[in-house]
This record gives sequence, C-alpha cells and structure tokens, in this order.
Amino acid sequence: MTDVVTRFAPSPTGHLHLGHAHSALFGWTAARKAGGRFLLRIEDIDPQRCRPEFDRDLREDLAWLGLTWEEPVRRQSEHMEDHRAALARLRDMGAVYPCFCTRKDIAAEIARAGHAPHGPDGPLYPGTCRALPEAERRDRIAAGEAYALRLDVGRAMAMTGPLRWHDRRRGWQDARPDILGDVVLARKDTPTSYHLAVTVDDHLQGVTLVTRGEDLFFATNVHRLLQALLRVGAPDYHHHPLMVNERGERLAKRDHAKTLRSLRESGETAAAVRALAGFPEEL
Ligand code: GLU
Repeated sequence: MTDVVTRFAPSPTGHLHLGHAHSALFGWTAARKAGGRFLLRIEDIDPQRCRPEFDRDLREDLAWLGLTWEEPVRRQSEHMEDHRAALARLRDMGAVYPCFCTRKDIAAEIARAGHAPHGPDGPLYPGTCRALPEAERRDRIAAGEAYALRLDVGRAMAMTGPLRWHDRRRGWQDARPDILGDVVLARKDTPTSYHLAVTVDDHLQGVTLVTRGEDLFFATNVHRLLQALLRVGAPDYHHHPLMVNERGERLAKRDHAKTLRSLRESGETAAAVRALAGFPEEL
C-alpha cells in the first residue's frame, strides 16, 4: 500500500485565518490518522500578490497551532522549470494555444456576442484566439505581443476521452473540465498558472490525497484532465466545506479579526484556536 501523503498549499498573499487553520488541520489530521506524511507547499507564483513576509508569518502561525511538516518546504516560485517543462509538453501535443486578449478585449467580445456561457467562477473565455490562423499567431508572437497560453479544453478532452476522479465526500465524479472553459495555463507575466502548477507539484511531491476547500471542487475537473494529458496518476480528493462567519459568509482574508495572529495576540491558546477551527481534540 502506498503511504498517504497530504499537503496544505497556501498562497502567501495575506495572514492565515480560521478557514486556513481548518484546511491545514484537515490535511494534517488525515495524514496523521493514516500514519502518513504531511507537506506544506507555498503557492507563490503570483509576484504581484505574494510577499515573503506572509510566507514567514504563515509558517510561524502553523507551528504555533501545533502543526509539523516535512522539510524542505516546496516554494512554487523556485520550481518554475518543472511547470515550464509540463507546459512545453502540452504545447507540443497541441492542447494549448496562445491568447493575446486583454481583459478589456474579453469583456468587449462577450458584450458583442450578447451572451456568454457562465461557469461556476463567472463568464467563460469566449474563445476569440482559439481559431487564429497559425501564421497570425507566429507574426504576433514574433512582433513581441504579450500572450497567455490557454487550454483548448475541447481538443484536450477529445485526446483523453472520458475521465473520472474520486472525492471522499461526494464519491466518483465524471470529469467535466469544460465547465471552466479554456482556462489559462500560463499567464502573460508568469510561465504557469494555479491549475498547471498545482497539478504538476502534487504529482512531483507524491501527494496521494488532496484535501482542500470545496471552492476548488470544480477546478479538480481541470486538474484531472491535465493529469491525463501529462500521463500522471490522479490522487484521491477530499474537498471539505468552507468555514463561515456568524452571518453565514465564507471567511476571507479581509475578515481581519479572524486571523490566527490576531487571535493569538488577543490571548487565545493554540488549543482554543484549533477548537474554533473545528478540531477540538488534542494533537
Ligand atoms: N493555493 C490555493 C489557495 O490558497 C490552494 C491550492 C490547493 O489546495 O489546491 O487557495
């Protein structure tokens, strides 16, 4: 039997709140119960939003909470070569295409069409650059125009055929990556994206059970497709419900009062904060 390997993969864009504590404890407990391993991964591919001090602070917060993880911690920004290599493979197989659109172009195209299919995260990319002639793509790239790389989801699904993935709470799922449309796999300013980096890194780190909030449930469909294209195995998944505040709203980074730091500074013990995060048992 393979060892259970779980991970907590925060983005250092702010201080951790109770929702993060819940997610981290969820992954940590799943590994612990199975006698497996727990990893911490820093998802810092976005240079605009990520800051080293948040990376430092979140490790301090998690250690204070009583969590332990394996070293070295993988920082995604230090492994972009791995993401680039995966992207090159997807490019070679014709599963991605360059997209020159700005946000404004996309909004204009949606307005022009008068409607846009909606996914769980909003309107889908209208496909403007999907059918550009090869020569035009080459010319625009040669002229130095900035471009992102998008997954040609229809083409990719035709390459892999039907796929399934397993969620421990909701059972087997028929993969529907098309509900998110032609997602970005490499941004104009970064040679990767969340979807690509998370798929590649979970594989390279040998993660067998991905535990994360159910806000990422739909994203898993895309990750399953990328796994099949890249010919890597699929881990098991457990998407947990998100923590909500007294008003029933999902906890967000802007709920300053709920950061682990502020709770600690106001005198809460780690055990009390673990209980607030839904894990009242002793570690
Ligand atoms: N880095 C993502 C976030 O902070 C989580 C990624 C994942 O667990 O797959 O929302």
